[in-house]
Amino acid sequence: MRTLTVSSLSVFLAAVGLHAEAAQPASRNRSEIPAQYRWDFTAIYPGWDAWEVGMKDLEARMEAFAKLKGSLAQGPAQLLAAYRALDEIGILQYKVFRYPQLQRDTDTRMQDVAGKFQRVTALFARFGTITAWFTPELLQIPQTTVEQWIRETPELAPYRFPIREDFRKHKHVLDERGEKLLSYATRSNQSPRSIYTELSTSDVKFPAVKLGDGTEVVVSPANYARLLRTRYEQADRAKAFEAHIGTYAATANTYAAIYDGVLQRGWFMAQARNFASTMDAGLEDSAVPPEVLTTLIETVRNGVAPLRRYAELRRKLLGLKEYHLYDAFIPVFRSDKTYDFDMSKDLVLASVAPLGAEYVGKYRKWMQGGKLDVYENDGKRSGAYSADVYGVGPYVLMNYNDTMDALFTFAHEAGHAMHSVLSSDEQPFVTSQYTIFVAEVASTTNERFLLEHLLAGTTDPRERFLLLQHAVDEIVGTFYTQVLFADFELQAHRLAEKGQPITSDVLSGIYLQLLREYYGESVTVDESYKYTWARIPHFYNSPYYVYQYATCFASSAKLFKDMTTGEAPARRAATERYLTLLKSGGNDQPMKQLQKAGVDLTQRATVQAVIDQMGELVSRMEAESAKIR
Ligand SMILES: [Zn+2]
Repeated sequence: MRTLTVSSLSVFLAAVGLHAEAAQPASRNRSEIPAQYRWDFTAIYPGWDAWEVGMKDLEARMEAFAKLKGSLAQGPAQLLAAYRALDEIGILQYKVFRYPQLQRDTDTRMQDVAGKFQRVTALFARFGTITAWFTPELLQIPQTTVEQWIRETPELAPYRFPIREDFRKHKHVLDERGEKLLSYATRSNQSPRSIYTELSTSDVKFPAVKLGDGTEVVVSPANYARLLRTRYEQADRAKAFEAHIGTYAATANTYAAIYDGVLQRGWFMAQARNFASTMDAGLEDSAVPPEVLTTLIETVRNGVAPLRRYAELRRKLLGLKEYHLYDAFIPVFRSDKTYDFDMSKDLVLASVAPLGAEYVGKYRKWMQGGKLDVYENDGKRSGAYSADVYGVGPYVLMNYNDTMDALFTFAHEAGHAMHSVLSSDEQPFVTSQYTIFVAEVASTTNERFLLEHLLAGTTDPRERFLLLQHAVDEIVGTFYTQVLFADFELQAHRLAEKGQPITSDVLSGIYLQLLREYYGESVTVDESYKYTWARIPHFYNSPYYVYQYATCFASSAKLFKDMTTGEAPARRAATERYLTLLKSGGNDQPMKQLQKAGVDLTQRATVQAVIDQMGELVSRMEAESAKIR
C-alpha cells in the first residue's frame, strides 16, 4: 500500500519520465510480480477457512428462506422479512462466488480453486430451484394491496421498484396452461443457438493463405483480425479477407436457415405473449420504447457523412488508390510511445478532475486498495473486466502492456469500477446493481475524459493523431457498426413478421445494400462482404441486443457535451446529474435513469451528439495530419 508521500513522488517522477521501475515486469511468473500490482483477496475473506464458513452460512440461510414459502400474502411484515432475507443471501452470494472466481482467473490452472468454484455454482443452481416460488407467490397478491403495504411500511420502500417491475413484466405472462405449453418449447428454442455454435466453431475449417512474404497463416477469426491490424501490404489484407469470408460464404445457405429459425422463434414467442412485433417483445425487458431503436437507425442513416470523411482521410494517408473495408484497421502511423502503469494511474486520475473532489477522492482510495490485478502472467485469464463485490468493492482485472490501448482499457474498466463504488455507497443492496444499458455510459465517459486530458497534454501532431484515431475507431466500432447491425436485424425480423421468404440471397441483399447506404462512394464494397451477417454471433445468440452499444455511446456523448461545454453553472448542474446517475445503481428503469441525467434517447438530438462528435474529431485528425505531412 502506498503512502501519500510515495504517491506524490510517483507523480513527480512520471512528470519527468523517470519511472522505469514501474514498466511491465519481464517475468510471467505471478509470484515474481510485485504485490502492489496483484489483487488482495483478504478484503473478501482472510482465507479459505473463512470462505468455508461463508458457504455454510449461505446454505443455512437458503434453507431458512425456503421455509418462508406461503407466507408472503400474510402481510407487509412477512413480505419485508422475505426481502431482507433475500438481501442477506445476495450479499453473501457475492462474497462466496467472487472469492474463488477471481482467484481462478489469476491462474486458471489451479485445479483446487476451480473445484471450489464449481461448488459455488452448484449451490447457486440449487438456490434457483429453492426460490422459484417467490415471484409467482408475490404476483398472486393484488398489486393495489402490495402498493398499500409499501405506503404504510417505510422499510419496504427500497423494494418498491423491483416489485413494480415484477408486476409490469407480468402483463405478458400467460395463464398457467399457456405458460406450461410455452415451457415445452424451451429446449427446442435453444436449437438455433446450438446449431450455430457447432457450425461456426466445432465444424468450421478456415483455410491457410500464403502472404506476400511467403508466410502461411490460417485465417481463423483471431488471426484474421491480427492480419488486418498488422499487414501493411494491401494485397495481403485482401487475400486474408477473401479466404476468411469465403468460409462463411461456402455454407451461407445453412447459416440463413439457422437465422430463419431465430427469426421464426422470435415471431412465435412475440405473438404467443401478445406483442405487436418482435421489436416490442425484444425491448420490453428493459422497458425501452420502440422509437428509441427507430430514431437511432434513422438519425445514423442521415449522419453517415463523418464516417465517409474518415474513410476518405484514411485512404489518402495510407496512400491507397482504392479503400476497402479490410483497410479500416491498419494504423496510419506507427508509434513506440509507451504508458507505464504508475504513470497511467496518474493520468486517469487527473483526467476525471472535472467530476469533482468527491469522485477523485473515492477513485484514488479505490486504486490503493489492492483491487487491481495489472499485468499478464502464465495461466491468467485474457482481456479485462470489472467485477463488483457488494460491501467490499469492485475488482478490476487487466493484462496491462504499456500501450495506448491498454491505457484506455484501464480508464474504461476503472469507469465501471467507480460506477460500482458510487452505487454501492448510495444504494441498498436490492437496487445497487446497474444494467448493461447504463453500464457502458460510465466506462465510455471516462475514456472520453482521458482522451481530452491526453490531447491537452501534448502538441506532438503524431501523438495527437493517434489519440484521435483511437477515439474515432471506437465510434466506428461501437456506434456506426452496431447501428448497421441493428438496422439489419430489424429488417430481417420484419420480413419474418410479414411471412416473407428468408434465404441467403435475401439476407445478403439487405446487408450489401446497408453497406452501400452507410459507406457510399468512400469505400469500395467488395461483393463478398454481403456474407458478413453469417458470422455475427449476436444475431444468433441475442437478438435486439447490439443497439444498446450505440445508445450507451450516444448517452455518454450527450452527457460529456453537457458537462464540458456552455456556461459554468450549466456545466456544474450537468455534472451533478451525471454523478446522481452513477449513484442511482439500478433503482429505476434505465431509460428513466438516463432521462433524469438529461439524456432522452427518443430524441434525435441525443444520437446526433455522437455524429457531431465524430465530425469534430475527424476535422481535428485532418488538421493534425496536415502538420505531419
Ligand atoms: Zn465495458
